[in-house]
Amino acid sequence: MTEIIYMSGLDRCYVKEFPADVIEIDEDDKWVILDRTAFYPEGGGQPTDTGYFHWEDTKARVVNVKKGNRVKHFVVGDVPRVGTTVLGTIDWDRRYAHMKMHTAQHLLSAVIWEKFRAVTVGNQIHADHSHIDFHPASFSMKDLEPVEKRVNDIIIEDQGIDLLFMSRDKISSFVEQERVDLSRLPSSVTELRTILIGENGEIDTCPCAGTHVMSLKELGQMLITKRKSKGSGKIRIQYELK
Ligand SMILES: [Zn+2]
Repeated sequence: MTEIIYMSGLDRCYVKEFPADVIEIDEDDKWVILDRTAFYPEGGGQPTDTGYFHWEDTKARVVNVKKGNRVKHFVVGDVPRVGTTVLGTIDWDRRYAHMKMHTAQHLLSAVIWEKFRAVTVGNQIHADHSHIDFHPASFSMKDLEPVEKRVNDIIIEDQGIDLLFMSRDKISSFVEQERVDLSRLPSSVTELRTILIGENGEIDTCPCAGTHVMSLKELGQMLITKRKSKGSGKIRIQYELK
């Protein structure tokens, strides 16, 4: 099993350089499995991290990271041998932009739920803009003005953000079932990595395996830039961070 460095704490999401040992490779498909990694694999609407592996006098470009049962780093260039210790370096500007966008998504999803009881049914993060799909939704662009203000107030107040591992029973007492459907998570998972925003998670309490900032003020200012109806009561909101 690969140790996922960013899983164990919010501060660990800021690891951008790490040594690791190569434990398995495929020279034809050019992927590498490490004993530990800080690379985020494509998933949950967040794109893959990119970066490099450095070893001896050479380096390989990490162009994609995928997670099935194991985390596979797809590389361009030489493939390091099994047993090699590599230094992984993440393209930090890109990852940090994704981290901020993903954390902002928690806020926007929470505020839309609070105001309109619309559930987040999809999302896509990019470094410069992102979107979230809500259902059932009927709000107008005008309705979104107080939403944007509420999100920015939470950021300005620099409300707390925490990462806790919670038992399934404990988290079900925190979250509203209509918003977060815990039954979709495999029953083998008993301890859930949970993100809490606000005092005792009152703004958002959500099981999540993603990357997040340590302080909401790092988000700057959120702008809702577009609202688009996707039919069947679904609305897409696009946002940016300035
Ligand atoms: Zn998250």
